[in-house]
Amino acid sequence: MDYRIGQGYDVHALAEGLPMWLGGVQIPSKTGFVAHSDGDVAIHALCDALLGALALGDIGHLFPDTDERWKGVDSKELLAAVLARPEFSGWEVVNVDITIALQAPRLAPHIDAMRARLSGVMGIEAGRISVKATTTERLGFVGRGEGCEVWAIVLIARK
Ligand code: MG
Repeated sequence: MDYRIGQGYDVHALAEGLPMWLGGVQIPSKTGFVAHSDGDVAIHALCDALLGALALGDIGHLFPDTDERWKGVDSKELLAAVLARPEFSGWEVVNVDITIALQAPRLAPHIDAMRARLSGVMGIEAGRISVKATTTERLGFVGRGEGCEVWAIVLIARK
């Protein structure tokens, strides 16, 4: 079998009064992400992991934040667009593992909704999609509630 692995990382700053989208789900929160798109930092890291697996660059390169087309865009559309690239036609996603570092709100009640939503967009069963959340014990910019950090890893296999 021919396998490829990809890793993605993204950070967005938090500000009051903005919507918080994570893993394709809107999370009830007093703060949300400062972004050109909807700010779904989990999907952005996932897109970069997928692109990394096939050495296709990164989403900043594919969907530049200087392009008005991507202003306020639903990040699920970006994820679908990445997977629709012709380079992915001969590949299937084996599994995804995402770790979200956020101090507040607690994400545990929303994890399964994120997995289900990503499953729908990616066309793979939720059992292949892991979403984990952690705080940073109030340390660093995440711990101070200034932002959110996400790491994603994907494995893909040639069909
Ligand atoms: Mg981003």
